[in-house]
Amino acid sequence: MQALVFAGPGHAAVRDWPEPRAQQGEVILRVSAAGLCGTDRHIADGTYAARSPVVLGHEVAGVVIETGVGVQSLQIGDRVSVDPNLSCGACAYCHSGRPHLCERLSSFGVTRNGGLAPYMSVPESQCHRIPDGLDTKAAILAEPLSCVVHALDRVRTWSGMTAAVWGLGTAGIMMIQCLRALGATSIAGVSHRAEHREKALHAGATTVLDRDSVEALSVDLAIEASGSVSAFESALRSLRKGGELLVYGVTNPEDAALVHPQRLFRDEINIVSSFVGPNTMDRALRLLAAGTVDSSAILGDAVTLQEAADWVLKSGPPRNAKVYTVF
Ligand SMILES: [Zn+2]
Ligand SMILES: [Zn+2]
Repeated sequence: MQALVFAGPGHAAVRDWPEPRAQQGEVILRVSAAGLCGTDRHIADGTYAARSPVVLGHEVAGVVIETGVGVQSLQIGDRVSVDPNLSCGACAYCHSGRPHLCERLSSFGVTRNGGLAPYMSVPESQCHRIPDGLDTKAAILAEPLSCVVHALDRVRTWSGMTAAVWGLGTAGIMMIQCLRALGATSIAGVSHRAEHREKALHAGATTVLDRDSVEALSVDLAIEASGSVSAFESALRSLRKGGELLVYGVTNPEDAALVHPQRLFRDEINIVSSFVGPNTMDRALRLLAAGTVDSSAILGDAVTLQEAADWVLKSGPPRNAKVYTVF
């Protein structure tokens, strides 16, 4: 089969790859669709640790076409979305109910072969049934949304709160839609890209701003979802007393930001971070099925596997919607 394979920093290409076989406890999925995100670009340029070679693709939905020995909860024909993060179940973090902080965390599309290929083998435990009425293609958004759900669990949210979101890609738009549902009455979307600001308004932002015009912002919750240090710093500056900064965007490992500890102290500012989406896949699928998060605000047209490779290497045309491939 043809797969999008990461083969070391700067190298991602469509190439021949052996079809997977179902091991004990695993199913084979006929991949319906697989999405790409900023993390794939970080993997490709070497700023996010990954195995190589590895098939990329951690946002995957498909149909079960084969069940391995011992699989009990799934049948051929089931439509599922994949939780890509696999924890060991035996380390101190797993034992304390924080599987995403696992000492031996492995992830499809990062350290195990992912879904940017027509077939994928997945342990039964990582498969989540797609609710009736939710399109299989839209279910690729369950993984990024599961991360957003976990992130919003980690901060305080209340009706009537004010918020601002830096970075209006997939995560930023999902944040806005969820904050609306959680009762935020004022949500500013911040981006240097005019087309992203337009999308944010459609998604429920009450105002949108260019990055250079955020000085007047004063909010309870600032979300940095762009992966930029200057956005981190201006998000921190935008907080009211008692406010929280949610660190969500992926920066480069060597990036450093300016923080004034005395201000954190005097204004009781919290800095909260969030990593992946432990045990939040089913909630994400329900939010998509209910339309609380509208997939049509995020998904554009599908691209070919080769176009996906170009996007990962930042050599293709800019894309305004989420990049994904259908098989
Ligand atoms: Zn992703
Ligand atoms: Zn563990």
